[in-house]
Amino acid sequence: MSFSYEIVRSSRKSIAIEIKPDGRVFVRCPQRVTDQEAKRFVESRREWVEAHLQAILRRPRLPALTEAELQEMTAVTKDYVTRRAAYYAPCMGVTYGRITVRKQKTRWGSCSNEGNLSFNCLLALTPPEIVDYVVVHELCHRLEMNHSPRFWALVKQVMPDYERRKRWLKEQGTELVSRLE
Ligand SMILES: [Zn+2]
Repeated sequence: MSFSYEIVRSSRKSIAIEIKPDGRVFVRCPQRVTDQEAKRFVESRREWVEAHLQAILRRPRLPALTEAELQEMTAVTKDYVTRRAAYYAPCMGVTYGRITVRKQKTRWGSCSNEGNLSFNCLLALTPPEIVDYVVVHELCHRLEMNHSPRFWALVKQVMPDYERRKRWLKEQGTELVSRLE
């Protein structure tokens, strides 16, 4: 099987191959690595890349979401996160501003310095306990604007089993995001 790939140079320190859920292959390397070296690296990992691409081809693909579905999901997510933020915030002793829900490819939620919360409409396709984790995560940013150990300790206080939910999102998330394309 042959495959194409794109070389992406950055300030990173080592070479790595990244395979997107849609089968695109990226070779991420330090600035100094030549095309020839990148090519050799890919060759040395050819079997591994091919195995992954085969697995992607075999996987049944869910259809891309339509505009109407995305609108419906945005409304459903907005309604749910609004209720859950109103539930969790007083327990945690935090406040928040506006809540917006949008289609996003890279994040599940965010919290601005002003306390405005933003959520991904794809959350409509996840179980409620996963949405709750994202809500709690963003509300914890009202106390810690970072992902320090202190931040995660706060999340754990509110949601002792958050790691399980976080893992679910990491494992299932790319599949959901692929439906945006
Ligand atoms: Zn965060």
